[in-house]
Amino acid sequence: MEESRIAFLRRMIASPSPSGFEQRVQQVIREEVQQYTDELRTDVHGNMIAALNPTGHPRVMLTAHCDELGFLVRYIDDSGFIYFATIGGYDPATLPGTRVQIYTDTGPILGVIGRKPVHLLESDERGKAPKLKELWIDIGASSKKEAQELVAIGSIATRAAQLEPLRGDLVVSRALDDKSGVFTVVEAMRRIHQQREKLKAGVFFVSAVQEEVGLRGAHTSAFGVDPLMAVAVDVTYTSDHPQTSKQEIGEIKLNGGPVITIGGRINPHVYQMLLTAADEAGIAYQIDPQASGTGTDTDVIQVARAGVATGLVSIPCRYLHTGSEIVSLKDIDEIADVLSRFVLALDEQTNVIP
Ligand SMILES: [Zn+2]
Repeated sequence: MEESRIAFLRRMIASPSPSGFEQRVQQVIREEVQQYTDELRTDVHGNMIAALNPTGHPRVMLTAHCDELGFLVRYIDDSGFIYFATIGGYDPATLPGTRVQIYTDTGPILGVIGRKPVHLLESDERGKAPKLKELWIDIGASSKKEAQELVAIGSIATRAAQLEPLRGDLVVSRALDDKSGVFTVVEAMRRIHQQREKLKAGVFFVSAVQEEVGLRGAHTSAFGVDPLMAVAVDVTYTSDHPQTSKQEIGEIKLNGGPVITIGGRINPHVYQMLLTAADEAGIAYQIDPQASGTGTDTDVIQVARAGVATGLVSIPCRYLHTGSEIVSLKDIDEIADVLSRFVLALDEQTNVIP
C-alpha cells in the first residue's frame, strides 16, 4: 500500500481518542473523507456520518469505531504521582513500565506507568498481575504543585506507542483497534467514489464513538442513519500464535485475508453477498462462526429500529488491547476491495429478507 495512504492511518494513531474524547481523531477523519463523500455531519454523541449518494437505494451503513482505550486523570498525590481511571478493557499485566502521553492544553506530556520493582514484591504478589490501584503515572514532577501546573484533573492519556512497520505487510501500534478499521472503511469509500457512476446505493460511513465502553455510538448512529443494511469493520483475535486454541476459536491468521462472520447476528444474504464479492475479486477469506454475540458494533446495529441486515468483516489482529497490536496492510487492502465491490453490487432489487 502506498505511503501516502498509510500517512492517514499514522495521523489517526497520532490523534488520541479514548472513548468519550474522540473529537481530535474525528477531525482528522473528516478532513480525509470529505474528498470522497457528498455530505458530512456529526451527531450529538460525536459520531461522524459521511454520506455518498445519500438519496440512493438501498441505504447501506459502513462503520468502524474511532475510539481507543485510554486513561483519565483522577488524583495527584503530594509527591506529584498521578492516579488514573482506565477507559476500556485493559489487562493490568500489560501496564507497568508503559510510556504514556497525557494530553494537555499546551501539548502532550510524557509519563510512565509506575509499579514497585520486582525486588520489593511480597511473595504472594510475585507472578501476579498488579491491581490498577497499585499503579500510577510518573511524569518526573517532584511535587503535587509542579504536577498540578502541568496536568489538570480530568485530563486524558493514552499509551505513547505510535505506528511502526514490523515486517513485510505487518504494522504495529497501539489503537489499531479500531483505527485500522476506520482506515479500511475510508479506503473503501475512496474506491466507491472513484467508480461512483456505477453506484446505486446510498452509502453512509459512520466513524462511531464509545465502542470500547458499550457499543454506544453504533447504537445511536444506526437509529439516526436508518439503514436497510450495515457492515461493521473491526479487528479480531487470531489463533496463529502460542497459547490460543483453534479448537476453541477456529483458524484465524494474520495475512489470511478478510475474516467474515456467520451466525445469528449476521443477515444470511449480506453474508453471501460479502463472500460473492471476495470470490469475484479472487480474494481468499476466513470464516468466523459466532454462535451468539460478536462483541462488536454489529450486535447493536442488528436490533436498531425494526432491524438492520448486518454483516461483520474483521481484520486479523494479534495482541489486542496492548500497546503493540499487529495487523497486516494486505488484509486491510483486501477488505477495502471486498467492501467496495459489495456496495457497488447493491441496487433496488437487493433482497435482505431471509
Ligand atoms: Zn477493542
